[in-house]
Parts: sequence; C-alpha cells; structure tokens
Amino acid sequence: MSKYKAVYLDHAATTPLDKDVLAAMKPYFAEDFGNASSIHHAGLRARKAVKSAREQVAGILGCASSEIIFTSGATESNNLALRGAMEAYCDLQSGTKGRAITGKHRGHIIISQIEHDSILKTARYLEKKGIDITCVGVDKYGLVDPKNVLDAIREDTFLVSIMYANNEIGAIQPIAAIGKQVQKRNILMHTDAAQAAGALSLDVKKLHTDMLSLSGHKFYGPKGSGVLYVRRGVQIAPQITGGGQEYKRRAGTENVPLIIGFSRALCLADKKQEQESKRLSLLRDWLIVEIERKIKGAHLTGDREKRLPNSASFCFPGIEGESLVMRLSERGFEASSGSACSSGNLEASHVLLALGLNKFLAMGSLRVAMGRSTAKKDLRLFVEALKEEVEKLS
Ligand code: PMP
Repeated sequence: MSKYKAVYLDHAATTPLDKDVLAAMKPYFAEDFGNASSIHHAGLRARKAVKSAREQVAGILGCASSEIIFTSGATESNNLALRGAMEAYCDLQSGTKGRAITGKHRGHIIISQIEHDSILKTARYLEKKGIDITCVGVDKYGLVDPKNVLDAIREDTFLVSIMYANNEIGAIQPIAAIGKQVQKRNILMHTDAAQAAGALSLDVKKLHTDMLSLSGHKFYGPKGSGVLYVRRGVQIAPQITGGGQEYKRRAGTENVPLIIGFSRALCLADKKQEQESKRLSLLRDWLIVEIERKIKGAHLTGDREKRLPNSASFCFPGIEGESLVMRLSERGFEASSGSACSSGNLEASHVLLALGLNKFLAMGSLRVAMGRSTAKKDLRLFVEALKEEVEKLS
C-alpha cells in the first residue's frame, strides 16, 4: 500500500508512475535486457518490444512509426526540434536554404512569449548563432492570436514553435489554426505538447504540425522518457551523434524499459482521456468558482474556458507565492507557484508578466494541477486551508 498521504495537486510538474506502466516496464530491466540492435534472440525481443511501442505511439498521434523519435523527455525533444531544424535548414554562412534572405539575419524562428524554458532558452541560444527570433505576445487570458503569428512571418522564417497548452496557466493555444496557415506557407510548425497528453487530441494531421514534443512523466509514465514526432520529409540534424538508432536522428542504445513505459502510459492516458477530462473539468470549474467566492482578491490567471481540464491557477495580491506553497505543504496540500522548474527562484514568472499582470500580483501565484487521484472532498479541505493561509499572509 502506498504511504503517500498528502493531497497532491501538482500534476503539471509531474505525475506518479501508473502501476500498470511499472508492471509493463519491469521485465525489460533484468529479464529482457537485450540491446535492440543485437541480432540474437535477446536483441530481437528488445527490438520487437520497441517496434511495438513505437507503433502504439504512432497510432495515437496518427502518424507512421518511422516518424516517432524516442528521447529523454520534452526538453530534449524541444532542443532537437529547434536546433535540429536550424542546422538542417539554415546555412549560417549564407542564410536559410532555399529562401531569399533579407538583411543580415540568417533565418527566422517565431515562438510565443509564454513558452517553457526549454524552447525560450534554446531560441536564445540560436539567436547567438545568428538566427532571428520573434516572440509573439499573448492576450490577457494567455492566448496567442493566430493573426499575430502570421503577421510575424518573414521571407526567411523557417520554423514556428508554439506550445499546445501552457504549464503555468493551462491556456490551450489554437495550434490547428496556426499550423494550417504556417504549413500553407511552407514553413515548419512545431508544438510543445508536454502538458497536453491525456487531455487533448494529439492527432498531428488535424493539428497541422510537422513536429510535436511529449514527456512521459506528465501522463503517469516514467521520468526521462519522451518523444519527438517529425513528419516524413522534414529534415532535422541529430544533436546526439553516434550509432544509427532512432532513424539516425538520436544516437544511443535504446532505453527499452522507458520506451515501453512511455508507450503504455500514453495508451492508458488516451483510453482514459474522455472520461477523465470530463471529470476533471467539472472539478476545475467548481474549484475556480469556490476560490473566487471564498477568497478576497483571488485573480484567475489564464482563459476560463480554453484551459486544461486539470488546471486552476490564481494570483493573490500582496502574497509571496512560494510562502503560500510552503504553508500549504505543511498542511498536507502540494501545489506550486508558477512552474516547478523555476521554484526557489523568486523572479516573477515570465508567463504571468506576459499576461500584463504587474509584478506585485504576479509574485503571488498559485498553480493547482489536479490528476487521477484528485477527489472533491480533498478539494473542499484544500479551499479551507488556502483561505486561511491567504488571510494569514495578507
Ligand atoms: N514543456 C512544457 C510545457 C513543460 O511543462 C515541461 C515540463 N515542465 C517541459 C517542456 C520539459 O519537460 P521535461 O522536464 O520532462 O523534459
């Protein structure tokens, strides 16, 4: 039996490993330990398992299995998408291949202001290499307007990367609408879908996306597992070189247990998606109204409707979000302030500032990310504890 007693409300940071996923992974650590490249029976068993996992993932994304690259997570997938496309499509000496170059820039990428650091910092790195970056803004609800993306397109734009759903405020972006227009202009469309799996459709054709990133631990799979979908015909230069694994796009012996865990978790998340999204969105709507009703000054961040079913995020004026999170943790409720990746760093979140919130309000942020274990009775207790702690800290 699990000893875990706290009410865990931080599923956007990570989720517990599903026990069926763990059971599916277990044989591949010690019994079926073969290297998927070996030609003996142990190798063949590993290869067969990886092949079947790849097919299952491809089935859910609606693509060919040769378009799936297993990685270590969305950070690596995002790096591979941006750096790999830049190396394949830009000649840093003379400019973007096949496109007329204006001015001194050697290629142009469009991202949004609210991307995860694995996109933002990678884009900043590419900027140092001579790539021009446009960061399109969002409205006060955290939504990207497709028109702003289209207006930012230039002669030398070769890639647009807009996240599917935001990790701090749960805002869901109009990826299909953006992707359709971007692809029409023969420009690559990438989306970071790390927060979307298990909640939104991952059909890459309907999303009009050429590349899509996923991270296994966001949907009850193992940490350190991920995928980058790359549409057939899209060039990306490998960022890890060595053996010919993953269609020569990501070298290194396949991590068979993690690949199995990733695919099993994605299949389960896909199967549960409809029912769980319905259940969570009812809880989310109840929680939002309850917090707004009971806690003075509570300010919902992100769009009320176009948001992930499990996500409720707020700012409380005059409060330091990290202190609130620590006090709630003492009382057995585990939530977060902004993104967990920047916890411990008292800067206001770039996402909240992009919404136009002032720093005073943005510092008092709280993210509640529900999951499979979340029950209404726990949320009732959570709201009471939150109300008391907000009042004490105000
Ligand atoms: N993108 C988004 C939107 C995320 O939420 C995260 C995880 N916080 C990542 C990328 C990176 O995922 P990982 O840390 O699993 O590589």
